[in-house]
Amino acid sequence: MNWKQSLGSFVAATALAASATGQDNWSYSGTNGPGNWGATSSVCANGSMQSPIVIEGTEPVYLNRLETNYLVSPLVMHNERRTVRFDYAPGSKMKIGTKEFELKNFHFHTPAEHRVLTTSYPMEIHFDHTAADGSLARIAVFVKEGAANIAADELWPNLPIEPDQSSRRAEIKFNARDLMPNERTFYRYMGSETTPPCTEGVNWYVFKAPIEFSSQQIAVIRGIMGENARPLQPRNNRMILDALPN
Ligand SMILES: [Zn+2]
Repeated sequence: MNWKQSLGSFVAATALAASATGQDNWSYSGTNGPGNWGATSSVCANGSMQSPIVIEGTEPVYLNRLETNYLVSPLVMHNERRTVRFDYAPGSKMKIGTKEFELKNFHFHTPAEHRVLTTSYPMEIHFDHTAADGSLARIAVFVKEGAANIAADELWPNLPIEPDQSSRRAEIKFNARDLMPNERTFYRYMGSETTPPCTEGVNWYVFKAPIEFSSQQIAVIRGIMGENARPLQPRNNRMILDALPN
């Protein structure tokens, strides 16, 4: 192999390594769309506990109450091209039984990713939590079209509308709790992140009660992010628990 060939194979290998680890090389449509996310991370294609799924055939059970103790946080939003993410200041906790998870961020999907029986919502909010031992918990809150949401009214004028733009408004304080329903009954199942690398072992808590946004509020964020819902994934015999109020 002469130097040109060896340089060529080095460049090819580097490009291959970059695309294998390149988390950025995916989208919601086209050749990098969800059907080809396996090229970014094999678990997206071969995992057996992927999300989102249809919530149906649930097992009613009494589970520990889910408690959220969220603090008011400064507003730090990022336009990540595929979603708008709001990073949360440390110290806000979600507790289920004795297990505690810390809220890291919340972000938006249009339309909703999970489906409940035949009901598809126009939007879903994910609240990403991590425990001290590294385990992951996600709360999903559905949004249905209805009255304007007061909390969103506060956030929307500050949304970063340019790709990769961040919006930091330290003077605006926000509590993620204001984007959750009062009613805390939920479905629980084991799944994955819904974006590459599609990491499994995620404890999903899908709230039954939707909150309301106006059609205009939904249209504004959809206009910024575009459609960013991963298609429904095979359930593969997983249990979906229907937590009864206790
Ligand atoms: Zn999400």
